[in-house]
Amino acid sequence: MKKIQMVDLKSQYDKIATTVNASIQEVLDTNAYINGPQVHQFQKSLEDYLGVKHVIPCANGTDALQIAMMGLGLQPGDEVITADFTFAATVEVIALLQLTPVLVDVDRNNMNISLDGIRKAITPKTKAIVPVHLFGRSANMDAIMAIAKEYNLYVIEDNAQAIGADYTNKNGEKVKVGTIGHVGATSFFPSKNLGCYGDGGAIFTNDDALAHTLRGIVNHGMYERYHHDVVGVNSRLDSIQAGVLNAKLPHLDTYNKARQEAARKYSVALGIHPDIWVPTICESCDCHVFHQYVIRITNGKRDGLLAHLQSKAIPCAIYYPIPLHRQKAYADVRYQEQDFPVTNQLCEEVIALPMHTELEDEQVQFISESILEFLSK
Ligand SMILES: *Cc1c(COP(=O)(O)O)cnc(C)c1O
Repeated sequence: MKKIQMVDLKSQYDKIATTVNASIQEVLDTNAYINGPQVHQFQKSLEDYLGVKHVIPCANGTDALQIAMMGLGLQPGDEVITADFTFAATVEVIALLQLTPVLVDVDRNNMNISLDGIRKAITPKTKAIVPVHLFGRSANMDAIMAIAKEYNLYVIEDNAQAIGADYTNKNGEKVKVGTIGHVGATSFFPSKNLGCYGDGGAIFTNDDALAHTLRGIVNHGMYERYHHDVVGVNSRLDSIQAGVLNAKLPHLDTYNKARQEAARKYSVALGIHPDIWVPTICESCDCHVFHQYVIRITNGKRDGLLAHLQSKAIPCAIYYPIPLHRQKAYADVRYQEQDFPVTNQLCEEVIALPMHTELEDEQVQFISESILEFLSK
């Protein structure tokens, strides 16, 4: 059996090396390292793939979130609601812009932001909601958009973990997540579902005026060369990374299918154990693209299991071990422990298993058996 890895970018690269190398070589040959034709081509291809009017490439997913918030004109003191259970980048940019982060609990069944939590957190100062499609699973966008409409709020989707996932809306139409809110942000960090070989990110929107604003912000606030109309940032996707993404985008659906297939095998093997919660596998849609395959160990043996798997050279990880409301940087007197029962519980119970596009059946089987073996001791 091949050595098990949390993410196996090398085996994935080996299969597409010829196209990736040619793509990179093309950039080297043309010397257009910044804003070369590869960047424009990637922008167009991603707009087509997502079915969205505007893609604005930028330097990374954290920038994408920050620029999205700048583009919406959010002002210091405005309250922005997001999930307590997510990667820190989501709340970091809110705080950096001197907006007020308002963390709310998540839903036990899909680990995404709680709709009740959102409603309870709304005040006259609330300006936006940032749902995170955590681990690759789309949040309940119909409900979130309905709340946003009722209270006149912006919705900024953090789509760093769910590119390619579909959301089936109330009309039965399938739409790509990240394109449903006023603006969406994603990351092309190497281990993400669509990863480049360095840092990269993008912002999506169907709003022409907002797209125009965002294109200026990513480029020092310039709409005309050396005319700085707004305070911007320098956030570019470089041409080499765009070249890599051009080579990889055509494989995204196949990659996501491979993740779903591995997830299905894990869930079938592990779902039989009473102390393991496994994510539901949806047969008829692509609402979950398994950026991570995260299970919950409900009998208090999570940390023991982690050590056991590591002793068998099975890598695994805890996403996320500490709720954001308890992080020094984001703690706030307003937060009460009893407001976050689910996040607190998840931080004690979750464990992420190896998940990538190159997982082999015998690896999934070995990992699953090792888990069951430990829990039956
Ligand atoms: C990865 C990630 C980001 C940040 O992306 P970078 O490209 O690393 O800056 C933001 N939000 C979530 C949920 C992420 O997983």
